[in-house]
Order: sequence, then structure tokens, then C-alpha cells
Amino acid sequence: MILDGHTTIEHNMPIAVLQDDVVQLWKRSQTAYTPTLIVNYGSVSGEYYWYQHTNVWEKERLLRFTPREVIDARSRHRTMLPEEEYVNGHILSSKNLKRLSDAGVLVNMGAHGQIQGIGAHWEIWMMTQGGMSALEALKTATINPAKSLGLDANVGSLETGKLADLIVLDKNPLENIYNTEKIKFTMANGRLYDAEEMNETGNHPKARGKFPWELYKNATSFPGMMKQPGMAVGVGSIDRSGDYLLLFSNASLVIFWSLKK
Ligand SMILES: [Zn+2]
Repeated sequence: MILDGHTTIEHNMPIAVLQDDVVQLWKRSQTAYTPTLIVNYGSVSGEYYWYQHTNVWEKERLLRFTPREVIDARSRHRTMLPEEEYVNGHILSSKNLKRLSDAGVLVNMGAHGQIQGIGAHWEIWMMTQGGMSALEALKTATINPAKSLGLDANVGSLETGKLADLIVLDKNPLENIYNTEKIKFTMANGRLYDAEEMNETGNHPKARGKFPWELYKNATSFPGMMKQPGMAVGVGSIDRSGDYLLLFSNASLVIFWSLKK
């Protein structure tokens, strides 16, 4: 793909050791790299590290912006692996991307859509597990992808004349990379939102509307696996396979029934 001239490589190289010829080729091609350690090739995916090591279902802000059953379905029934599965898995991939980054390859944070919001943080954190500094990891989520896509004149860093897309943190992520979660404000194209609730604040204060799943009184009650069919369509997708109608809510099958009555 690099020889064919792709702009970026999505997903990691599923091998343990990158030889110098690969590093040199990658560097000189100026092809960027979006490893998505969250879905690691050649091992268990990095996503499972965070289900194992953190109680994802207790993250209140995440639950505010995602239907509870989506989080519960992915996080509560967690697989517990010996630590070396991760060390020889996504952490090894992370060491490789550090090597490529040191050689001059642009490495980008891509969260793969597993869980919106927190997934981007996991990916940044996993960059540091292979040896990147906090600053290097933050660049994978800001200026690096902007350069990779040719948008660095408009976004990717704080500069006069660039678009006002930024976040304000309560704590310093250079001191502790996990502080990327401590977001106080989000500014999108110059409009300011409080990150806790995503109500607009600043010059145009306005409470946000409700998400579809907040409109049903039982939609987010624990254990929350029962939903109205219309809701499932709202947050997931429909797959007509044969005689059955399947409704998915992200990773979990919510409802299916026969179309032949
Ligand atoms: Zn993928």
C-alpha cells in the first residue's frame, strides 16, 4: 500500500519486529500511520485492556452521552487476560509506532468507533504504553492528523487564524496523560460548550436537546437491555438477513424477529 502511494495506513502492522528497511521505506514515502491499537492486529485488541483495568460502566460522563446498555454490553462481562497478552500485543505494536514516529513517520490517533468519546482517550493512552511521551501522544490526536490530511493550515494547533476547534482541560495532560479525560469546555467552530452536559455556554448560552434514548422513560434503566424497536433503530442499525429482521445497538444484538408470521 505504501508503494502504491496511499496517504495513510489504517490499522497496525501485525508483526512483532519492524526491520529497518520497513522503517526507511515508510519514512521516505511520507505515508502516515493510524495504528488503531484499540483494534490490534496479531493479538487481542487494546480495547480489552481498558475493560479489564478500568470500570468503564461507572464513567458517568460517558453514560450521559451513550445509551447505558451499549456501555454495559461491552464492559460488564469482561474477559480477564494474563498481562503478557497485552504486553506482547498492542503494547508491542505501540513500541513499533514509537520507532516509526522517532524515524519521522506521522502517527495518528484513530479510535475506530468502538466507543465514541472514551475510545479516543484510550488510543492516546495506548500510544504512551509503547514509549511515546505525553506530548508525542497528544500530537497524534492534534497536529499529526491535521498534517496527514493536509489540513494543518486550518486545524491541529492553537494559532491565530486557525479554526477555533479546541478543548479546555482542568488538569495538565503533560503531567499525567490520563488527564485528557478532564475536559471542562469544548469549543467547536468558535461556539463554547460545557463538557459535562454539552450545554452551550459563553456568548450563546443554550441547554442541549435530549438524545433519542433519553426520551423513553425505561430506555436507560438498569439492566436496560429491553428497548422499544424504534429506539434500537435510532441508536443502531437494521440488518435484513433472510427471514429475520435484526436490530443492532452498536455491538449488541437487541431484538430479532421473524418477518414471516
Ligand atoms: Zn478497522
